[in-house]
Amino acid sequence: MSILIVDDSMVSRVFISDLLNEVGYTDLILCDSVEEAYLVIGFNEPDKTETDLDLILLDINLPGKSGIDACREFSAHEIFCDVPIIIISGSDFLEGLDSAFTAGAIDYITKPPSHTELLARVRSALRLKTEMNRRKAREEDLMVLNERLAEVNLELERLSVTDSLTGLANRRSFNEFLAREWLREQRNQQPFSVVMIDIDHFKKYNDHYGHLEGDVCLQKVSWALQGALCRAGDMLARYGGEEFIAILPHTHIQGATELAAAFHARVRELALPHCGSPVSSIVTISIGIASVIPSQNLSPSDVVAMADKALYQAKDSGRNQCVIAESSTCDDQTAS
Ligand code: GH3
Ligand code: MG
Ligand code: MG
Repeated sequence: MSILIVDDSMVSRVFISDLLNEVGYTDLILCDSVEEAYLVIGFNEPDKTETDLDLILLDINLPGKSGIDACREFSAHEIFCDVPIIIISGSDFLEGLDSAFTAGAIDYITKPPSHTELLARVRSALRLKTEMNRRKAREEDLMVLNERLAEVNLELERLSVTDSLTGLANRRSFNEFLAREWLREQRNQQPFSVVMIDIDHFKKYNDHYGHLEGDVCLQKVSWALQGALCRAGDMLARYGGEEFIAILPHTHIQGATELAAAFHARVRELALPHCGSPVSSIVTISIGIASVIPSQNLSPSDVVAMADKALYQAKDSGRNQCVIAESSTCDDQTAS
């Protein structure tokens, strides 16, 4: 426990330090003025100071800077503000105590202090400081824990909406996005398109190249599809196994068809060999598109079902092609 004693009376300094020494408080800094104390503890160089004070015993009536001014300055200091200050006051100066407490002192003793009084007050102030240190350390621990928790929560949130293999949005975030955008376009009466993509004969791909290579293929195809999206409002998600789905708010059938052509081109450019495919020597995809203006009679799952049906027609018609759902809204029926 490090205790700073500032008193211009040598007798008083010696008396207090001897008493504290006797009971085991040996880490004492003795100064005869506030100015000297400031120098010794590095008060004016808080970045450099290595002094760790636990208690200050401060004479109120000092030459130079007074004890009250020092109290005020300690209380406002970035490092020493939490160090308890006990005022040492002559009995003729008791009326000044009020200003000392206002300035930040927590207790006082009168000169000459009795053994019992001095030790009781010093011990109680040191207990207070120990408790304050403990609380501060606990608060700091809690702050670190809270920061870590916030980071973990953020990561969990990201994971809960992301497909771990491809990094695309997962089914859950797809459902949320679909419901939200559907409502928006229902209000705006704007066309809404859904594009479903399925890798052709992917089971045969796994059978021939193995499941791990299958995973790599899924990643490459998903990134190629993602690269074709150019509007910030569009979303591509992994819908299931080797199926992907794009939601294109504010997009009519022509825009969706152009994107489907871009999907086909990107996957063709990948040129991933697929020797088990009866359709082509490289990996190909089939696509189903549906485009509607959201109304009260339709639900978001209706438009997904329309795109799914169109996708099956593309499969039935030989795969590696795109089919538009029959009841899709044509361009000349749409608002944009
Ligand atoms: P089709 O052209 O009719 O779509 O035929 P397909 O073989 O692609 O369709 P099918 O539904 O018969 O098989 C899909 C395959 O996709 C089977 C399944 O093992 C595979 N698959 C699903 N998810 C994953 C995955 O995460 N990794 C790998 N490697 N394969 C997957
Ligand atoms: Mg497939
Ligand atoms: Mg499938």
